[in-house]
Amino acid sequence: MSITIHQFRCLSDNYGFLVRDDATGRVAAIDTPDAATYERELEALGWGLDLILNTHWHPDHAGGNSALKARYGAQVVAPAEVARLSPIDREIAHGDIVSLGDTRFEVIDTGGHTQGHVSFHDAADAVVFVGDTLFTLGCGRMFEGTPSQFWASLGRLAALPEETRLFCAHEYTASNLRFARTVDPGEALARRGVLLEARIAAGMPTVPTTIGEEKATNPFLRAPALALASGTDDPAEAFGIVRGAKDMFKG
Ligand code: ZN
Ligand code: FE
Repeated sequence: MSITIHQFRCLSDNYGFLVRDDATGRVAAIDTPDAATYERELEALGWGLDLILNTHWHPDHAGGNSALKARYGAQVVAPAEVARLSPIDREIAHGDIVSLGDTRFEVIDTGGHTQGHVSFHDAADAVVFVGDTLFTLGCGRMFEGTPSQFWASLGRLAALPEETRLFCAHEYTASNLRFARTVDPGEALARRGVLLEARIAAGMPTVPTTIGEEKATNPFLRAPALALASGTDDPAEAFGIVRGAKDMFKG
């Protein structure tokens, strides 16, 4: 079993992802920030488009659904909340399996950024597409969820094998790193920060990351261990404190 992942920039700071199941040549788009960019990439690769997998309803994730479905006949596979933006062919929820040829994605509930946000985990290839749940050194804004919901979602991702490659939907790392340094004086972040700065300076993507790297250095996953949240021994509350500090951060 193997897949080919094609990653490209889209809109101002989104990543687009096209995934091909190598055995069958079937192709899925992970989210559709911008139909025109996806069409251009598909043309260049000579790929068709069989499935659209949406992580959540925001327009920079589902805004290209209708145009891509019309052009390629792709099936839209999405959590119910996407219906507020465009029609869904197959509604999915936590625990469902989505097949792309021989490749299987397990749907994980990662609500918190939006209520119905989901992630797609392909265990055989050790990859997970997490939309706006977790970023390199960051996490999504808590627009619709609660700290305990978001913390539980992050826990489901943190429970995946450490080598799992984590594909997040935005390149926010420069700002995430500036914030992380203000709340985490640890060695692991200091070391990783230098490496990430070099990549950013060279114009290289900092996505994908891995579950292991994020567990060691992401201030949201580390919230209960950070001094900023020393006023509580409730991990979800600690997460809420760090998330709130990032919302206020100007840097
Ligand atoms: Zn979003
Ligand atoms: Fe987004």
